[in-house]
Amino acid sequence: MTFTDLSIATNATILPINEIADKAGIPRQALELYGNYKAKINVDSLPPATKLGQVVLVTAISPTPAGEGKSTVTVGLADAFNQLNESVIVALREPSLGPVMGVKGGATGGGFAQVLPMEDINLHFTGDIHAITSANNALAALIDNHLHQGNALNIDPRRIAWKRALDINDRALRQITIGLGGPLQGVPRQDGFDITVASEIMAVLCLATTLKDLKERLAQMVIAYTYDKEPITVRQLAVEGALTLLLKDAFKPNLVQTIEGTPAIIHGGPFANIAHGCNSLLATNTARRLADIVITEAGFGADLGAEKFMHIKSRKGNFHPDAVVIVATIRALKMHGGVEKTELTHPNASAVKRGMANLEKHVHTIRQFGIEPVIALNRFITDENEELEEVMNWALQHGVQIALTHVWENGGKGGLELAKLVKQELAKPKNFTMLYDETDSVEEKLRIIVQQVYGGSGIHLSDKAKKKLVELKKYGWDALPICMAKTQYSLSDQPALYGRPEGFTITIRDIIPKLGAGFLVCLTGDIMTMPGLPKQPAALKMDIDDDGNAVGLF
Ligand code: ADP
Repeated sequence: MTFTDLSIATNATILPINEIADKAGIPRQALELYGNYKAKINVDSLPPATKLGQVVLVTAISPTPAGEGKSTVTVGLADAFNQLNESVIVALREPSLGPVMGVKGGATGGGFAQVLPMEDINLHFTGDIHAITSANNALAALIDNHLHQGNALNIDPRRIAWKRALDINDRALRQITIGLGGPLQGVPRQDGFDITVASEIMAVLCLATTLKDLKERLAQMVIAYTYDKEPITVRQLAVEGALTLLLKDAFKPNLVQTIEGTPAIIHGGPFANIAHGCNSLLATNTARRLADIVITEAGFGADLGAEKFMHIKSRKGNFHPDAVVIVATIRALKMHGGVEKTELTHPNASAVKRGMANLEKHVHTIRQFGIEPVIALNRFITDENEELEEVMNWALQHGVQIALTHVWENGGKGGLELAKLVKQELAKPKNFTMLYDETDSVEEKLRIIVQQVYGGSGIHLSDKAKKKLVELKKYGWDALPICMAKTQYSLSDQPALYGRPEGFTITIRDIIPKLGAGFLVCLTGDIMTMPGLPKQPAALKMDIDDDGNAVGLF
């Protein structure tokens, strides 16, 4: 029998969610059941926090389009700690339907290191992403209605910053025209869609700490500019209350379980290439209240998710990771060593050796934050010993801690070695430092990210970005952290520049203030905030049988 993630997940034993809540120390009054296996956590009904658990951040080298097993290792590491009888919770992001229907697949781990019920979590789960889409589009409709009903705020329809959102890769919606058909159909204007996981409301939900904070952040979002080029916020439209109401359940973290019965909190799901890439601060904080060790991940490579985890999420949450795991695979190392994507399953130890340059940079990056990383070499059955030894020897020679993990095949047992190394790191004192201060100039913050995290030589600002800088300074919006929108495949802004490129500059196309989220999105290269589907979308393999069982979900 060939194992797929779906067949392994559907054959696994799943426990009633009450039992998982008991294990996590969540009292019944704090649990809102969504069927037998999913629940929302009512954070206000939890007992007061006596202490907060330590945070392990799982990141990766620059990935291949298939992903390098970050979620898989995150889940497997939590199961390993569970096997070692540690009090542990895994905190993940909610999958977006974009990658599920597209090329990358779901985000529930893989093999014997998955969260359950995987088909629910990968599809509509508890409806959080739908709620965010609804809030986003309610706001869009309210803006257009404001224009239609007389435009008391003097909004310039050519300067509306708020886009509609949909959680599907749909390139046809990137740029659209709306309001056609005469005066009864509204005000004609150009518009466009972003994927929901790139929307500011997703970021706001992920960074808000209380319902009150959520409402205040929604009120601060800039939605448009007047004919006099003055910014208009949600507060001026007076709809932050309605938006918060739409999000009241989505704001509560979701409780599920791993295949081995470890409690898992899954909440919020911004992409890391076009958004900030980490699960919600509320979920991480909730997990820290409940467990001694929280294993969480940030999307794509350490240049994207981990950098934003440190500079955005940790800063807002006033904490820092106590240990960092960098997931590497032989296939990604070969890609960075110059091997074509179609040849990655063929043995090639010398390409692995060349590709180590990419991993080395990510190790260097994490060390700059004052944390000694642990590499998890995520083993695939196609990996040759010679290739694996290349990486293990490199780590030995360079004094980097490394564990070979086989959690996909063996669940927590395959991550015990990694857990032991991580535990040693957790016990050591840290000297965590941010690489930039919020009060540094925008140019300086960008320069630091490009030089210290990407290994490039500097930045080039487009004329549009320069104009935006003037505006940011005028309104005092420049003292915010940066959220880079950059390709995940390369340390540079050019997706095909693999390995550890040097001497490159990063072009900043545009800077978009996200005042609700509290960061400045800096667009680089051709990065799109609404992805497209590939030639062979994963959707083509999906089905449901006559008994209602999912088919082909990876
Ligand atoms: P990431 O979080 O880095 O994007 P995932 O954990 O989602 O990656 O894994 C991507 C895909 O690769 C999943 O379908 C998963 O089942 C598969 N995968 C991960 N690790 C392994 C492994 N060691 N062997 C086989 N398949 C794996």
